Amino acid sequence: MAKIPPFEHTALESIPTIANSIRDTFKSHKTRSIEYRVQQLRKLYWGLKDNQDLIAEACKRDLGKSGFETYVTEVGWCMNDIIFMSTNIARFAKDEPAEDITFTNRFFGPRIRKDPLGSVLIIGAYNFPIQLSLGPLIGAISAGCTAILKPSESAPYAAAAMQKIISESLDPSAYTVVQGAIPETTALLDQKWDKIFYTGSANVGTIIAKKAAETLTPVALELGGKNPAIISKNADARLAARRLLWAKVLNAGQVCVSQNYILVDKEILPAFIKELKAAVAEFYPQGVRDSPDYGRIVNARQFARLKKMLDDSRGKILMGGTMDEKDLFLEPTVMQVDSLTDSLVSEESFGPLIPVLPVSDLDEAIKIANEVDDTPLGIYPFGNKKETEKVLSQTRSGGASINDGFFHASIPTLPFGGVGSSGTGAYRGRASFDVFTHRRTVTTTPAWIEGMLDIRYPPYTLAKQKK
Ligand code: NAD
Repeated sequence: MAKIPPFEHTALESIPTIANSIRDTFKSHKTRSIEYRVQQLRKLYWGLKDNQDLIAEACKRDLGKSGFETYVTEVGWCMNDIIFMSTNIARFAKDEPAEDITFTNRFFGPRIRKDPLGSVLIIGAYNFPIQLSLGPLIGAISAGCTAILKPSESAPYAAAAMQKIISESLDPSAYTVVQGAIPETTALLDQKWDKIFYTGSANVGTIIAKKAAETLTPVALELGGKNPAIISKNADARLAARRLLWAKVLNAGQVCVSQNYILVDKEILPAFIKELKAAVAEFYPQGVRDSPDYGRIVNARQFARLKKMLDDSRGKILMGGTMDEKDLFLEPTVMQVDSLTDSLVSEESFGPLIPVLPVSDLDEAIKIANEVDDTPLGIYPFGNKKETEKVLSQTRSGGASINDGFFHASIPTLPFGGVGSSGTGAYRGRASFDVFTHRRTVTTTPAWIEGMLDIRYPPYTLAKQKK
């Protein structure tokens, strides 16, 4: 197996030159043809396929991810996106005729061209380091843009693996990786971009949006949120427990769309907790810690943050609670909390913490969900059809999975994104093409129509006005 190259910060002074050269390539128009885009996507596909083991190794080192999880949520995920895009680009890129036009307007051939936005900056997060960086890059390539990718420095092995794959597979004059942390990202933000696509926390999202506003640069912001799961008394306790546990053990809970807290009808609470315990035993027969299928917290800083959240909580531990700082191991931990002000509810944990807040009925659950965060990234109602529809019609969120944890995010052709504080702009499927595309309105005025157009030219005589 090839070796993961070392993670090295890009020299700060080289960043303007790199950004300018990517911009110059866009201006050369070479990335516009559909053939070029498909060729680049195919090369990326093979780069990923040939380096599957390298990526598995990188994600193991960064996040303790199992090979299976890395394949499903990173490598296979991106390869699927590439197949979808490369088979559909030509259709997506085709001009769209105007809708509902009058008979005479048809003479002007009104249409919408799909033009690439230009030269774009993609800033990735650490939790799915490959998917969250290459997913937007696949969209940028498909749309005909040039791009710089700035992966998260918190997943350095994955960042280095991506740099190797991109530099070996893609046209280096159009696509390149800049490595680094705040100074390098700040230097990148000082350059001119036609779009900035950012995935990460709302705090940093605010910095990005403010900087972009100075030059009126459009942004897509894929942020986090305090996502609720709501379990009504009519829900299936076993299904809810298995599905919501899965949503918090995948990637050791470091998933932007997983539920941050669970509102459970008091009537079903004992059965739900019993089933959660049973599910942990079923998922990890040899114990969570010894399982090769359970990941680790990304670094000591995030581990300390999660430990502090647990320490600060006034909740009672019902399950789990074991941790080992040296190994960055944090067991899936269920806490019963009794207040919305408990930090486990009021802050995004982004880890394997599972706070459970008992409620008297669905109305109370909806009220609490709206109070904690009225625009989370996801919402997960469990119950009968009437109940789950009621939850959807009385809340807002980026997406929703009924009777499941974030299943909606796994459908590759559905747009994925937030609303309000959880983000702006969506991608995946056709949306990945659209987010890097300008819909350019075009008409063509034929010469023969001049006689009909005469009416628009001054002088506006009485005869013209009567026509
Ligand atoms: P983060 O905001 O710390 O870092 C993300 C990126 O921003 C990194 O590339 C980092 O180098 C850069 N960055 C950090 N500080 C910066 C600064 N001051 N100026 C400029 N750039 C800076 O996010 P994270 O810790 O990697 O991810 C966790 C957060 O991201 C959670 O809130 C999670 O919900 C959210 N998230 C959202 C999605 C989504 O698709 N909506 C996906 C994953 C993570």
